[in-house]
Amino acid sequence: MRELEHWVGGKAVPGTSGRTGPVFDPARGVQTGTVPFASADEVDAAVDVATEAAAEWGAGSLSSRAAVLFRFRDLVAAATADLAAAVTAEHGKVLSDAAGEVARGLENIEFACGIPHLLKGSHSTEVSTGVDVHTVLEPLGVVAGVTPFNFPVMVPLWMLANAIACGNAVVLKPSEKDPTPSLLLAELAKEAGVPDGVLNVVHGDAVAVDSLLAHPDVAAVSFVGSTPTARHVYETGARHGKRVQALGGAKNHMVVLPDADVDAAADAAVSAGFGSAGERCMAISVVVAVGAVADPLIEAIAARMPSLVVGPGTDPESQMGPLVTAEHRDRVRGYVEGAPDEGARIVVDGRDLVGPADGSEGFFLGCTLLDEVRPGMRVYDDEIFGPGLSVVRAGTYDEAVSLVNAGPYGNGTALFTRDGGAARRCQRDIAAGMGGINVAIPVPVGFHSFGGWKSSLFGDSAIYGPEGIRFYTRPKVVTTRWPDPAGSEIDLGFPRTR
Ligand code: NAD
Repeated sequence: MRELEHWVGGKAVPGTSGRTGPVFDPARGVQTGTVPFASADEVDAAVDVATEAAAEWGAGSLSSRAAVLFRFRDLVAAATADLAAAVTAEHGKVLSDAAGEVARGLENIEFACGIPHLLKGSHSTEVSTGVDVHTVLEPLGVVAGVTPFNFPVMVPLWMLANAIACGNAVVLKPSEKDPTPSLLLAELAKEAGVPDGVLNVVHGDAVAVDSLLAHPDVAAVSFVGSTPTARHVYETGARHGKRVQALGGAKNHMVVLPDADVDAAADAAVSAGFGSAGERCMAISVVVAVGAVADPLIEAIAARMPSLVVGPGTDPESQMGPLVTAEHRDRVRGYVEGAPDEGARIVVDGRDLVGPADGSEGFFLGCTLLDEVRPGMRVYDDEIFGPGLSVVRAGTYDEAVSLVNAGPYGNGTALFTRDGGAARRCQRDIAAGMGGINVAIPVPVGFHSFGGWKSSLFGDSAIYGPEGIRFYTRPKVVTTRWPDPAGSEIDLGFPRTR
């Protein structure tokens, strides 16, 4: 049994609170480690270390910070297999998917490598006679990151690449369910030359998070997780005067118009619905089939499902791994169980899954397809976060868009069509932060920014990309006069530009 430790000041530090949580291998259903849960005092100690480190790091040259980031990028790329193995061991997703999340995380380091350009600020000359104005972007100091279980490499990198590049020090509180990848990232950062104390990893639960939210030396908090926690983090952090971006849950729809290519739409629905066992905030959980496309589309999706290989993430044959915990597996199964009573029709029943051939007792659940789902049913209203795909039938494009936009979340909406006019109109009509046209999972590349609307994001800043740079810096506007001594005079009026 592994006993994990915190990472503070560039080294592993054992937990002292006496509180711990279990870490499982979801594919075998066995506990493989314990993770310490930090007390408020342990959080304070990490913030102190970070505060000291931030002062020097933030004052360093841009070129030296960029050089460290380039090295970090290469080390993370070279460690892809190790990082992916750590993700699969604690999260359960298949190795190829875990390597995919490392690749998407790398985009954020690559973007941050351009930090000398990104922090250029702006300059106006001669705003008044002999007066210039320039804006510089300064680091905030210590920033906190709180991350979910479903992307234990990519989401920490959404935060820490830009935060560090901007000259801040970070205290990262990763998910207690899969804490090892964050520790590997911290070791790689140290090897790359990130100074001790600039990246710290403190494990824990709500006690650690609430301590960070109340700590006077934490300037900003980036959070990614479920909507109830996101709301709590946003409200609490804001009450303590912090800058907060809190990304929450989702219920993403894929609208399929009658003219769409049915096979391509079915491939996309299966991939986006069941990839990573549906444990993606950009997973498709509802297909909205418009008009006559419904029957052939459901048939095409159902036809693809029996051949999906569910098994341990380490088996190269597996396409989908287990769910993260037994509790979560049982919760998702409960939605399937309750669906017929609410009026939905089970087309493919994931509860029929026969376990992996090796007989392991992992947290597996097969893929389920439900038809005749409607708003008001729990299976439609709740974020299930598992391998369950619902189909809602709509008569028209307008009916489909109204249905999608009436939901409380606004992360991603995808449209499948061959009609360019409808696609263009849909871009304007959808009430979501990210749209996909014939792209089921429209996660923006690292040089754009990621963020939903409504209950999918609390705060006014999306994460990573240009918005990330804005979030992790504060502007300072400096007005400068180097007067010509010949024009000097006393003037008690308000500073003029005309
Ligand atoms: P979660 O909200 O349970 O946990 C997220 C983090 O918050 C963890 O580090 C956890 O320890 C901490 N936490 C949990 N309860 C807390 C509390 N009461 N007070 C303070 N901190 C608390 O989320 P999860 O189950 O780890 O992740 C899955 C959720 O994350 C899904 O809802 C998914 O949609 C969402 N998610 C959203 C995005 C996005 O970009 N919008 C991305 C990934 C995941």
